Amino acid sequence: MKTDIAVIGGGASGITAAIAAKEANSGVRVTIIEKLARTGKKIIASGNGKCNLSNMKLSEYNYHGSVKAVDIIEKMPDYTQFFTDYLGVLCVSGSEGREGGIYPRSNSSNTIVNAMRMKLDELGIEEICGCEVMGITAEKDRFTLICGDENIRCKRLIIAAGGYAAPTFGTDGGIMRILKNMGYKTAKICPAVAPLRVAPDKLKGLKGVRVKGEISAVSGGKVLRTERGEMQFNENNISGICVFNLAYLFSEYEGKLSLKADLLPDMSWNELKGYIENIRKSRGNLPIEELLTGIFVKNLGVYLVKNSVDRPLTDKISALKNKEISAIISRIKALEFEVCGCSPWQNAQSTMGGIHGSCVDGNLQSRLHKGLYLCGEILDTAGDCGGYNLQWAWSSGMLAGGSCGKSLKGAGK
Ligand SMILES: Cc1cc2nc3c(=O)[nH]c(=O)nc-3n(C[C@H](O)[C@H](O)[C@H](O)COP(=O)(O)OP(=O)(O)OC[C@H]3O[C@@H](n4cnc5c(N)ncnc54)[C@H](O)[C@@H]3O)c2cc1C
Repeated sequence: MKTDIAVIGGGASGITAAIAAKEANSGVRVTIIEKLARTGKKIIASGNGKCNLSNMKLSEYNYHGSVKAVDIIEKMPDYTQFFTDYLGVLCVSGSEGREGGIYPRSNSSNTIVNAMRMKLDELGIEEICGCEVMGITAEKDRFTLICGDENIRCKRLIIAAGGYAAPTFGTDGGIMRILKNMGYKTAKICPAVAPLRVAPDKLKGLKGVRVKGEISAVSGGKVLRTERGEMQFNENNISGICVFNLAYLFSEYEGKLSLKADLLPDMSWNELKGYIENIRKSRGNLPIEELLTGIFVKNLGVYLVKNSVDRPLTDKISALKNKEISAIISRIKALEFEVCGCSPWQNAQSTMGGIHGSCVDGNLQSRLHKGLYLCGEILDTAGDCGGYNLQWAWSSGMLAGGSCGKSLKGAGK
């Protein structure tokens, strides 16, 4: 089979790139090649089925990696221009108290995928689904994609095959490995927007506990980043959006990263001391396992006391010495866990690392192979949780697709 522009991957960036390529050059044949039975599956699952498609507060702070994502996002049409004006999807900001997050007004990710599929039909973009690209050959002025028994030849190639995160949606890094063999430099890969693993014995007694607070990623005594929000303690990891946003640091600080949580960031040390001293007087007859019952859920209160003082939990609160109270306060204000790994790809929403920024030019065309473009998660940029990764997928897809379409003869309607 022959086509003008082949797009590997029918996810957020691939669909957008195909649309942008066809809009830039209506005379070309554009074909999406998708491994799964349908395109857009990960978009449907995104944002718990609601699709957090962008964020009102978007800056360099929210992206990590060698590709300068924000520079590209800022020069492309924004979410209103693309989704509302162009695709006809009404959007709202801040669904369910998620400050800054932008969602379709319908609160359903299907609205996004339906609008995109309608646009693909309208533009006459072909889709070949259930077809996995297993090899790529680059010749002087064309590419050959090896897909099982069939080869697909194209003049231009857009690679939008995603990263390693959430392999049930077709993303197992296969194309990244092919590109590596073709000479592409990759930045170290690890799960991003994911829980961080902690030794299970350190979490004993905490499974299922959720608490709002402040959590920092720390290495060698240096605070790398601090996030506020709800953290959840699980059997062998800590999750929650605030932790997800620290996971990308694992790639750089593997083996020397820890998490430090302040479980009461709105109360100073002295305020907390005053509170506990008051409890020591008013509830002195109760066992020490009840000391923090008025602040935290039972399991967390017991965990904090048990891990701070060396005495039976049945001892009376009035018996606690000042030194022991200080130890309990220290634990509440700086509960520390060594990070021993990141969670499996199944639990990650994005990939830290990927094809290095030095492999592409300002239009996302490969510097190694003219006529080959890259977009989306396969490139080395990871956004925070909150619509940043999808915004990158749409913007990079628009840029790569538009540049690719224009690069073929007959460009422009
Ligand atoms: C559960 C979940 C929820 C998320 N929620 C949000 C959210 O609300 N907001 C947000 O900003 N981000 C969210 N993300 C992240 C976001 O969805 C991704 O970063 C984004 O979809 C990446 O787009 P992409 O086009 O680069 O890659 P993908 O969407 O991963 O698409 C790549 C496509 O390429 C196909 N493919 C791969 N290899 C081959 C091959 N060899 N041959 C043919 N096809 C191939 C895959 O099947 C896949 O369809 C979420 C991720 C997950 C997993």
